[in-house]
This record gives sequence, C-alpha cells and structure tokens, in this order.
Amino acid sequence: MANRVINFNAGPATLPLDVLKIVQQELLDYKGAGMSVMEISHRSKYYDQINDEAIAIFREVLGLDDSYHVLFMGGGASTQFALVPMNFLAKDKTAAYVDTGSWSSKAIKEAKLFGNVHLAGSSKETNFDHIPTDIDFPDDAVYLHLTSNNTIFGTQFQSFPDAGNVPLVCDMSSDIASRVHDFTKFDLIYAGAQKNLGPAGATVVIINDKMLAKCADGNPTMFNYKTHADKKSLYNTPPVLSVYIVKLVMEWVKAQGGLAGVEKANIAKKERIYQLIDLNPDYFRGTVKPDSRSWMNITFRLPSEELEKKFIAEATEAGLSGLKGHRSVGGIRASIYNAMSKEGVDKLAQFMEDFKKAN
Ligand SMILES: *Cc1c(COP(=O)(O)O)cnc(C)c1O
Repeated sequence: MANRVINFNAGPATLPLDVLKIVQQELLDYKGAGMSVMEISHRSKYYDQINDEAIAIFREVLGLDDSYHVLFMGGGASTQFALVPMNFLAKDKTAAYVDTGSWSSKAIKEAKLFGNVHLAGSSKETNFDHIPTDIDFPDDAVYLHLTSNNTIFGTQFQSFPDAGNVPLVCDMSSDIASRVHDFTKFDLIYAGAQKNLGPAGATVVIINDKMLAKCADGNPTMFNYKTHADKKSLYNTPPVLSVYIVKLVMEWVKAQGGLAGVEKANIAKKERIYQLIDLNPDYFRGTVKPDSRSWMNITFRLPSEELEKKFIAEATEAGLSGLKGHRSVGGIRASIYNAMSKEGVDKLAQFMEDFKKAN
C-alpha cells in the first residue's frame, strides 16, 4: 500500500482512494481494449460509452433532465470567465456580478472586455470576509454571475439569491456536487475538475436549452457552447483521462448516497473544525463571518505568523499535508472536499488540539 498523506490541498486536491484504485486497475488494459484510456481513440466505442455515462451520471446526481447539456471542455474555469461573456454579453448590454473574492474578480475583469458589468454585490471592503446579502441587479441584465464557494477566502453561499427572469450563471469549481441544491435554478454552471471532481484537464459546463439558444453567433467555433453541445463534447479531442476519472468520481458520489449522502458527511466534517475554532476563538482565529463559512475550505489564523509556520511544518511532519493558506491571505487553509474522509478531518482536529496545548 502506497504511503499516502492526508491531503488538504486546495486544488489539485485529494481524490477518493477507491476511484484511484479503479484507475490503477484499468489503466493498462481498459475493459479488454488492450490499451489505456489515454491511448484509445476518442471516437471509439470505449470512449463513447465513457462520455455518455459521464453525461448521464451528472444529470442523475444533480437531478437534471435532458434540457441540461453536460459539456467537458478544456481551458479550466479561467477560460469560462471569458467564454461566458463572449457568448452572452455584448457592448450595449449589462451582466451582473457578485464579487466575493479573487475568482469573481477575475471573472469580472474578463466580462469587462465584452460589455458593461454591474456590481450586484461585493464584500471587497472587508477583504471578502462574508457573502453579501444585499444583492441587486437590473431586470434586463443578460445574466447574474455568482461564485458559489470562494476557495481562497473560505466563504460560500449558504443559499442562492432568486434571480427572477435573469439567467443565473455560477462558477461552482470548488463545491459542485457537495451538497443538496435545486440545480435547476441555474442556467449555466461551470467547474474546473481539479477541486471536487477529478484531475485537472476537464472543465464541466452544464447549460440548459434556454441559455444555449442565446449564444452569440460569430465567435470562433471552439468558443461557442453550441459546438460542444451539438457534438456532445466530441467536436475535437476532449481531455479523455480527466473525463473518465470525473465519471468515476461522480459514480463514487452516487455510491455515497448521492448529494444527500455527501452533504451529511461534509456537514460532520466542517462542524468538527469550526467547533474547535468557536471554542478557541483567541487561538484559532476564523477569518470569515460564521454565516458565510465554507464547508469546503476552512481558513483561520493563529496568534502569530511564527506559530502558523510551526503549525504547518509540524502538521506536514505528522502526515497532514497542504494546510498553508493561499499566498494572498496567509494563515491556514484546510480544504476538505468530498473526497476528504471524516478520519482525515478528525486527525486534523486532534492535531489542532495538541498543537494548542503545546504552544
Ligand atoms: C480554482 C478555481 C478557479 C480556476 O480554475 P482553473 O481550472 O485553474 O482555471 C476558478 N474558480 C474557482 C472558484 C476556483 O476555485
């Protein structure tokens, strides 16, 4: 058995061990093909089946009918920052954005290349320590864009604003498929795979017929969502290995009891750590407002930067890896995505208690 650490990396991040074992087992000879998934034609019956099953498992787990298209694109979520306004915004139109941190700020920057941006809400003034509640936007906005979970600052929408007739677009890169939602509220969802879904490479885009019909004409073929929807993501060579593993991860989510199952586990995990923070507020200093706390990325500071360095070094020594906060925030960040086990979180909690006693 490989010597695996408990991996709190923000992304690329830990994957379910059961999934990695399937990948390992199927790697050299995929279901009798005599080749690995990486070596099979993306036009073969083998890949066709992977692609169809990957689309189907997303619809099933998220509760979407076939008016929702599931696309597997390249370029990461960062490319979607540009493709969304390229397809739906124009010079004389306005898109609304809620700015809740670095990722939304980057999305806003791209949108401004294509048209007007209305800031529907922002927590920038308090260094993104909460999710704004006073969200307002014009009725004729071409869409309202949200970032459901802020991977860097550790905040998360606990519920989503009602966008009325304005299409709702959401970057769910770091919390897709982690809790129960009505996903039919959204017209377009995108997520880079490498946080909660699988290895980097594939970017999942979920878009409904209504939104698809609004894609601008005249964009380069690869930058038009219709191209990918019409060809079931097989217009060009998709990131095959990533799609295959994303499919396995979603099947794993289903086996955990689907969204209800992972939600239950994720609540137990985040509460274990937030309780410690609440019990020791002078020592484990939470960086965000309690009502905006992320279930996926828990951020906190210690009384000094020296202690933070020591904490990270000793944690690494103890097999708890990836706890350093993002360079723009500092402190500690524990990313506890779907694939992080409760045992892993319990070990972190024990380590935190021991560290506090000793320091
Ligand atoms: C990581 C992340 C991104 C960027 O993803 P890439 O795939 O690296 O482009 C965008 N949005 C959020 C919320 C993220 O966590």
